[in-house]
Amino acid sequence: MTSAQNDEIRDVIIVGSGPSGYTAAIYTARANLNPLVIAGSVTAGGELMNTTDVENFPGFPEGIMGPDLMDNMQKQAERFGAEVLFDDVTEMQLDGEIKTLSLADGTVYRARAVIVSTGSAYRELGLPDEKRLSGHGVSWCATCDGFFFRDQTIAVIGGGDSAMEEALFLTKFAAKVIVVHRRSELRASKIMADRALAHEKIEFVWDSEVIGINGEDKVSGLVVKNRNSGEESTLDVTGIFVAIGNDPRVGLVKDQLELTAEGTIAVDGRSSRTSLPGVYAAGDVIDSTYRQAITAAASGCAAAQDVEHYLANIKTPAKASN
Ligand code: NAP
Repeated sequence: MTSAQNDEIRDVIIVGSGPSGYTAAIYTARANLNPLVIAGSVTAGGELMNTTDVENFPGFPEGIMGPDLMDNMQKQAERFGAEVLFDDVTEMQLDGEIKTLSLADGTVYRARAVIVSTGSAYRELGLPDEKRLSGHGVSWCATCDGFFFRDQTIAVIGGGDSAMEEALFLTKFAAKVIVVHRRSELRASKIMADRALAHEKIEFVWDSEVIGINGEDKVSGLVVKNRNSGEESTLDVTGIFVAIGNDPRVGLVKDQLELTAEGTIAVDGRSSRTSLPGVYAAGDVIDSTYRQAITAAASGCAAAQDVEHYLANIKTPAKASN
């Protein structure tokens, strides 16, 4: 692919379009910084695009669908002049005063400041057959694929809010949903756990790890091992939804920015400042603890303000010496 350098040096480029990226875009656009959001191609809108009802984002007493919330955020950013590009960044050069970002279509963009809000990626079980049967019974997204498992028995792996959300959603289609969790208690919030535990279509297999997936062309069973007894058994399922959390998406920056022990981008205290001047980070990519849409949005707001201060400082050094 030929590369085309864009001559303009932008004030700020935001990489990622989840709640943190779009909030950073709203704030930097309102500060007249003319932000460019590289929203991603398939991942545009971030994790909430794969969610149904969002009931805990303030301001929506009846709840709102995840994709609608993200659509609103995009429109709000664009209303103030943010430019949104649905492409993927393939490379970033983040040191020096001017940062360069290469896109999958070959275009190169330059900016004085960058906000990295690349979110997190679904964690995998790491089993040999998981990838092979991905799209053939193994999925990471109930809202995307649940429909294909009408009247079937489906397993959901995990014990957090995501697993409960997936399990509850899948009850709309499935004959039965079996939640396989490696411990005897759920990590999910009480309200989500109680809903799942009370649901007549949901069964739980506790203290069990997944050790294998059966099936030639499509999933025909899930092999689990009880962690107390060591006993192995096969669950007759035709669908497997993996909901065991996320890992921060740092592939593009891990060799340039300092990371924390948890693998998130390290930032200075409560700020969004990374280890390189002019590079800021926001949302799930810096947060291994809270990881909520609202905390990501707040983090994007902080990053926008940090960028505003940074740009004001680098643009007025001459005045300071007068
Ligand atoms: P999470 O809270 O980190 O839970 C991950 C679950 O997967 C845990 O139960 C964990 O087991 C299990 N797990 C991790 N690695 C595993 C492996 N290799 N094999 C088997 N099981 C494994 O992740 P999450 O559920 O995706 O939630 C992430 C954040 O988003 C949380 O803060 C959550 O509250 C939030 N969230 C909120 C909502 C909502 O409010 N509607 C919906 C979705 C997510 P252990 O318990 O043993 O560690």
